[in-house]
Amino acid sequence: MNPSTARPHVVIVGGGIAGLAAAFFLRDEPVRVTVLEGSPRLGGKLSVSEVAGVAVDEGAEALLVTRPEGTGLIAEVGLAGDSVEPGTTSSAVWTLGALRPLPRRQFMGVPSDLAELARSGVVSDEGAARASQDLELPPSVRDGDVPVADYVGARFGAEVVDRLVDPLLGGVYAGRSSDLSFDATMPALAAASRRYRSLAEAAGSLLPPPVPVPAGGQDRTPGGTRSGGSVFTTLAGGLGLLPAFLAKASGAEVRTTSMTRVLSSVPTAPGAVPGWRLTVGSAAAEGLIDADAVILAVPARPAARLLAELPGASAAVTALGEISYASMAIVTLAYPRSAFPGAFPGGGLAALGWSGYLVPAVDGRAVKAVTFSTVKWPHLADATAPGAEPLEIVRCSVGRIGEEALLQRADEDLAALAAAELAAATGVRGAPVAHRVSRWGGALPQYTVGHLDRVARIRAAVATQPGLAVCGAAYDGVGIPACIATARTAANQVTEFLRRGRQWSHG
Ligand SMILES: Cc1cc2nc3c(=O)[nH]c(=O)nc-3n(C[C@H](O)[C@H](O)[C@H](O)COP(=O)(O)OP(=O)(O)OC[C@H]3O[C@@H](n4cnc5c(N)ncnc54)[C@H](O)[C@@H]3O)c2cc1C
Repeated sequence: MNPSTARPHVVIVGGGIAGLAAAFFLRDEPVRVTVLEGSPRLGGKLSVSEVAGVAVDEGAEALLVTRPEGTGLIAEVGLAGDSVEPGTTSSAVWTLGALRPLPRRQFMGVPSDLAELARSGVVSDEGAARASQDLELPPSVRDGDVPVADYVGARFGAEVVDRLVDPLLGGVYAGRSSDLSFDATMPALAAASRRYRSLAEAAGSLLPPPVPVPAGGQDRTPGGTRSGGSVFTTLAGGLGLLPAFLAKASGAEVRTTSMTRVLSSVPTAPGAVPGWRLTVGSAAAEGLIDADAVILAVPARPAARLLAELPGASAAVTALGEISYASMAIVTLAYPRSAFPGAFPGGGLAALGWSGYLVPAVDGRAVKAVTFSTVKWPHLADATAPGAEPLEIVRCSVGRIGEEALLQRADEDLAALAAAELAAATGVRGAPVAHRVSRWGGALPQYTVGHLDRVARIRAAVATQPGLAVCGAAYDGVGIPACIATARTAANQVTEFLRRGRQWSHG
């Protein structure tokens, strides 16, 4: 045990949502917790700042509620009263020259209602006809993990992959369906696909039952809903508020600008389990911190660097090195409501009826997804410019894996490009009154083919290191609830280790 204190010392490296959640989960344990965040700011990919005087998330903005971990944590830190549901979650796809409705009956873009797919116009008539073959084709046998595009393409053809599945996966991973793993990015569908001959039927088995449409009527059920409400939530004031609340509620000592450069195992008593030593800060102003247990809540690359010195961790270092990351930028634009064409009844973005749109990579645009923030989030709907004119705020997501050159453009260029594409899609007139470019280098881990095996290798190697655990977006899901789940597991692992008197057995 660390001699400076009676309570064991747990050090968490990384002050993103995973690290802070891990600290929070340790709050009632008989341990002392220190969080070391390398940058000057807590929160990692969660951050909120103002555009045209309105607080808008720069990174993650929506939390999936179909998993309990995110909403549970929000409730535990006392923020449940600040949760806001989307006003609408119906999305469009900007393709084949128009904004077209994203089919509601789809699972990550995999359609379950092929008649709805044909009506949507998202794929051509030929593409819709090819997709219908899924219902008749013999089972597609697969041996082990495959790229999403291969399996889905074999069932529905290339258009469904290019215009639906690829943009939806791009929205989550900034990755391409030709590389991403079917088993890791769509585990539920991958499992269901083994029970159904038709992939459309497999996708349908994962969706809530369709809402009956009155004879001659139109189904207006918004996509992304479940019975009783939306599948997403956020916080009034921005999801980016959560890290500061978590840090405070955790009771941990939280240090920013504390980059951990080296992790080493240090002997304690002869024959006893070794402890940990972390080298923190720049070479010129280096500090050493001793710990009884360590949680690495950092992306794959820094995790690999920190594990590199540890005997027995080389398999984890190798597997972490195989996880690549996509970089991206969020360009947030603010317009006066009157800039959106009067062609839509009532004007403004809300008249379009969508919360935003996706853009297939095959259409050659820079922006891959757009969120109409003032439509999607009711708490932003009344946003006004300093002159009191109602505002529309739009978040444009730029950068798929492999598009790093695009991100090297200056902020002004990126904002102009995003605005020009928005004008082509929506007809918005004039320039935005304000813009903000938020750059996310190494934003999203790519769960490419073999990811599940890679994670198993990492976990097995980390399990050989007494009192060490890992968590975060690199492992079991990039969404916030999945990151929180890994944090819970990591907190449990170190607690169990310390409870057993530092005898290590992870497994
Ligand atoms: C633009 C964008 C939008 C997104 N939108 C959503 C969304 O709407 N909903 C959703 O669920 N998910 C979304 N995601 C994904 C989600 O936000 C992330 O996967 C998640 O926040 C990652 O959390 P993390 O704690 O694992 O890692 P990070 O947020 O990356 O935090 C890791 C922290 O570790 C620090 N660090 C790194 N190395 C060191 C070191 N050596 N020493 C000390 N500190 C170090 C970093 O500075 C960072 O703060 C989005 C991601 C991005 C980039």
